[in-house]
Amino acid sequence: MNVKEAISRLAALYPDFQPWWEGEDPFLVLVGIVISQNTSSASTRRALSRLRERGLTSPSAILSAPQEEIEDALRPAGLYRAKARILKDIARWAMDGGLERVLSLPHARAREEMMKVRGIGRKTADVFLAFVASAPIIGVDTHIMRIGRRWGLGTDYESIKEALEREIPPERRLWAHKALISFGREYCRARRPRCDVCPLSDICPKRGIQPEL
Ligand code: SF4
Repeated sequence: MNVKEAISRLAALYPDFQPWWEGEDPFLVLVGIVISQNTSSASTRRALSRLRERGLTSPSAILSAPQEEIEDALRPAGLYRAKARILKDIARWAMDGGLERVLSLPHARAREEMMKVRGIGRKTADVFLAFVASAPIIGVDTHIMRIGRRWGLGTDYESIKEALEREIPPERRLWAHKALISFGREYCRARRPRCDVCPLSDICPKRGIQPEL
């Protein structure tokens, strides 16, 4: 796949985006990224506003709230028990100064440090650092992983991330992250990808797509 050509066509499709997490409190961005796993952005927004309604927006509030209250707020986002446990862990870590510490570190070190926290994987760390610390990193979420595989860029997180970062200049990576997610939702969907109307159809190897999908 010619990634440069694909990205330049996506630039015509998605010239710009409204801010997603930019300007938000770093802790809440992290909370939002955790909640957004395996759910839609509408469900993430619903769960976040339920946390806000209950005043559960700071590390100390999350740490002192009963587990069941957090679980109840997170219900619309699914996997609410596991996500509530992760929020407790990251709240404890933030209360211990972990969040401030990683924001003062170089990006690669910050990524390593974040990944030591239970519940924070490389995708969460990468997306967080891209949005909050302006790190020139492409966080490979589920949409980008699928697109990367279909484009033949690799089969795992790191190979797809590296293939994209090789072709996309640092200052365009945050935009590219958003563009690829939007493209994955609108065209390169998990089930029934819209290859017939896709603007990249003539250059895409379409790897691993079953004919019936
Ligand atoms: S042609 Fe199909 S598989 Fe390739 S990018 Fe477009 S929607 Fe995805």
